[in-house]
Amino acid sequence: MINKTLTELSAGLKDGDFSSVELSQYFLQRIAKYDDELNAFITVTEEQALAAANKADEAIAAGTAGVLTGIPVAYKDLFCTDGIRTSCASKMLDNFIAPYNATVVEKLTAAGMPMLGKTNMDEFAMGSSNENSYYGAVKNPWDLERVPGGSSGGSAVAVCAKLAPVSLGTDTGGSIRQPASLTGVTGIKPTYGRVSRYGMIAYASSLDQGGVFASNAEDCALVLAAIAGFDAKDSTSVEHQVPDFSATLNDSIQGLKIGVPKEFFGEGLDNKIATVIQEALQEYTKLGAEIIDISLPNTHLAIPSYYVIAPAEASSNLSRFDGVRYGYRCEDPKDLTDMYMRSRGEGFGTEVKRRIMTGTYALSAGYYDAYYLKAQKIRRLISNDFKQAFEKVDVIMGPVSPETAFKIGAKTDDPISMYLADIYTLSLNLAGLPGMSIPAGKANDMPVGLQIIGNYFEEAKMLNIAHQFQQATDYHKQLPAQFGGEK
Ligand code: GLN
Repeated sequence: MINKTLTELSAGLKDGDFSSVELSQYFLQRIAKYDDELNAFITVTEEQALAAANKADEAIAAGTAGVLTGIPVAYKDLFCTDGIRTSCASKMLDNFIAPYNATVVEKLTAAGMPMLGKTNMDEFAMGSSNENSYYGAVKNPWDLERVPGGSSGGSAVAVCAKLAPVSLGTDTGGSIRQPASLTGVTGIKPTYGRVSRYGMIAYASSLDQGGVFASNAEDCALVLAAIAGFDAKDSTSVEHQVPDFSATLNDSIQGLKIGVPKEFFGEGLDNKIATVIQEALQEYTKLGAEIIDISLPNTHLAIPSYYVIAPAEASSNLSRFDGVRYGYRCEDPKDLTDMYMRSRGEGFGTEVKRRIMTGTYALSAGYYDAYYLKAQKIRRLISNDFKQAFEKVDVIMGPVSPETAFKIGAKTDDPISMYLADIYTLSLNLAGLPGMSIPAGKANDMPVGLQIIGNYFEEAKMLNIAHQFQQATDYHKQLPAQFGGEK
């Protein structure tokens, strides 16, 4: 069961090999068996899953089912889910029951996908290791002493250990690609504006984008098609045609021009990762692609500009959590100011406070020009680098992360070294471009992801390119021994 693609699961449901209730129970049982150890879920929604699965079985019997009907899914715990706790892995929202569904949840629910639960994450999506959660760190299924990456670590681990066949996450600066890379699953962050942000609790609104984790590109294609598209409720969602991402998966990639930026292979990159990436590129040349050396000269400015812009937007977005409207309120406030201060002081974790303080500082009068405005100008330079590169190449490839999954606790006292882990992922978000991570092999006995960066709205091409690699290799089929489970 766990090795089946979504298309195969869908066929199994239609042919009556198993029901959606049985399929959902299968994953719920795996969650019950393994999640104490992995901590990938904050909330498991068994009752809702089985009720939705029942409805899906009725639709299948009535012949009204779509391809995703009856296949269970898990959501990062920042997608609002009607009537269900949506915590953002924060004490601040520990008691917050969302009163409506995020657009993506609404769409997948309408497609008949039962929700298994809400996955663990870094608090308010701030982090690269999934250690910043009020509910505790998530463990990497390949080595329980190591991090799975963040901030969508729970969603990546759910797919990696097959606690869910597919999950949704968000990527503000790498939070889909980095945990996908560190756990050896396939993840896609679409073009900014491709997927509605409505009902997705905001971290940095000009960077946040929802996307998919699955076992392979083929599965990502199906689910991305179901969540993509214009949404009048999100003013930054783009009216752009959503192609059938599955239709072009088997197109030839003969003559494909792959740009490899030299800045992605500089100091700080683990040599063993560089080797894995070079081997993956060789595989692409065997498939008929051409490798072209390119330069993205402003790559080194991605970290400093992102870590001004993202906290600045976060400091504004998170001002709504004041103890009045949502979530946590301190005990016995003396007066209004005391209530604001203690509710926020007690409700937010350390990293979130660090971001709010940095962001507030960067936006304050007298510093705005020096930091925020400057960072926005750098952002334009970074976008221009990509624009020029895409005049010469069809797609860009490189590593996702400079290192494989590190030990839990290794970087918690050193936020700067944690931020450095984002070196290859942030620039895409600053430019609004789509990116993927696909499993490309191992280094240090841990998974290594290959990053595929496409031009705006070229997700179909990226999925095609990823699928061709996955037809020729089987890295994406490897499962951590401990969680291989029954066939
Ligand atoms: N690691 C980055 C940060 O902490 C990216 C997080 C994300 O993409 N949500 O901001």
